[in-house]
Amino acid sequence: MNDSFDVIVIGGGPAGYPAAIRAAQNKLTVACIDGWKNRDGSSAFGGSCLNAGCIPSKALLESSELLHRAQHEFAAHGVQLDGIGFDVTRMQQRKAAIVKGMTGGILALFKAAGVTPLAGHGRLLPGRKVEFTGADGTKRTLQAKHVVLASGSEPMPLRGVDFDGKAIVDSWGALEFEAVPKRLCVIGAGVIGLELGSVWRRLGAETVVLEALEQFLPMADSVVAKEAQRHFRKQGLDIRLGAKVAGAKTGKSGVEVRYADKSGEQVVVVDRVVVAIGRRPYTQDLLAEGTGVVLDARGFIQVDDHCRTGAGNVWAIGDCVRGPMLAHKGKEEGIAVADLIAGQYGHVNYKAIPSVIYTAPEIAWVGQTEEQARAAGRTVKTGSFPFAASGRARAMEAGAGFCKVVADAGSDEILGVHIIGPMAGELIAEAVLAMEYSASSEDLQRTIHAHPTLSEALHEAALAADRRAIDIPNR
Ligand code: FAD
Ligand code: AMP
Repeated sequence: MNDSFDVIVIGGGPAGYPAAIRAAQNKLTVACIDGWKNRDGSSAFGGSCLNAGCIPSKALLESSELLHRAQHEFAAHGVQLDGIGFDVTRMQQRKAAIVKGMTGGILALFKAAGVTPLAGHGRLLPGRKVEFTGADGTKRTLQAKHVVLASGSEPMPLRGVDFDGKAIVDSWGALEFEAVPKRLCVIGAGVIGLELGSVWRRLGAETVVLEALEQFLPMADSVVAKEAQRHFRKQGLDIRLGAKVAGAKTGKSGVEVRYADKSGEQVVVVDRVVVAIGRRPYTQDLLAEGTGVVLDARGFIQVDDHCRTGAGNVWAIGDCVRGPMLAHKGKEEGIAVADLIAGQYGHVNYKAIPSVIYTAPEIAWVGQTEEQARAAGRTVKTGSFPFAASGRARAMEAGAGFCKVVADAGSDEILGVHIIGPMAGELIAEAVLAMEYSASSEDLQRTIHAHPTLSEALHEAALAADRRAIDIPNR
């Protein structure tokens, strides 16, 4: 086999595999090395996202939401079901089949594009050489004109709360529970903690969420965060803010999780604990001495605005570099880098990266929150529209939440859009496109939205920014 490539990508997650495919589309010879190991020891492309993150979590969120809707919403529609039940094993099998199909699909894409997949470990050596160790332990030294590092991230451990793979697990472990825990503690009320907490809460677990910060979802617009907290608490998530976990000990009656809040030391006893306090870049055994690639104080690979490391023709993308740890951010960086390598134009607009929390109601935003825009010295105007006033949302029995548009009061440029409600993650795409084109709120106002659709809520929110909404009183 050829040991020399135009491009070698180390890491086959949602950052690395698109980089490899785009580089091949650009007529370059490409190999993509990935070392992911499943629990059964098998290898799979797709990284954390496909194997232990985005996709399996969305599969379980969908299943558990269907159950929740059957239990709590069907009656309102006049749909009567007796003896609603569920089967966790079946849910897990469905999830596993989706993951298998998606990860296998990457190999099919590689084949079609002409990318050489290499299952095993990659280590960058000086001079754009890569040491590849195959699954059987054999080593080969490969040579590349360009190397793209896409080694991703791993769950952040919490001192004093040691993973044991059974009672105390990380996010991957929480996607693999074979039965619903009676009492569950999720440490960290970030995106991952809330999604996983929602899954098991809907299936019946008494769920406590411990969050060190006093503020709930500080990265979201404050009115969205307030609305979300209200809904999650109504759903039975026992969210305790200002609760800093210090340790956990497994005893006879379960796991004792110790935390400190305003009132002092507290203990909660549960059957299982999920540590979801964030992720950290993964660069273990990735870089030999003398490569010229530098890590920052938090362990991220240092790159410039175009994902160039300090070493010539060595690039880094995705979770192992600065910026939000999101699959679509990594994908865009991968595509941009592959285009830059081919001498084309490649660019990532970091100001228009959407964030989505796949809870119910769903939460999505892009751009600045109202608070961030004001703090940045902008004079802002805002418009909001509640889904309760949307005919389509009412017909769907999904009237909770709202759309909010934040625009510059002078230029009318859209600075941010914040949605909590049905299909928020889909609706935000229109706002991302609008911001990509530096649209004004008037542009959204003059865009025709089909009736009756959820997207009309965004239209009306833009109109409301100029007190010209039609379907709600303007205040
Ligand atoms: P990874 O997906 O981590 O892939 C890196 C790959 O490189 C891995 O396969 C790893 O084994 C391999 N690798 C590392 N080092 C080497 C080496 N030296 N040699 C060979 N291979 C190596 N993001 C979203 O955008 N939307 C979501 O809904 C979402 N949900 C999530 C839910 C959960 C539970 C979790 C944990 C994460 C979620 N994320 C979500 C985050 C998302 O998974 C990450 O942002 C994304 O996977 C990062 O992609 P990446 O390619 O940079 O890294
Ligand atoms: P994210 O970074 O979005 O995945 O969210 C992780 C969350 O975990 C953040 O909101 C952190 O404040 C929270 N967190 C971190 N350490 C602790 C801790 N020791 N106890 C409780 N919450 C924590």
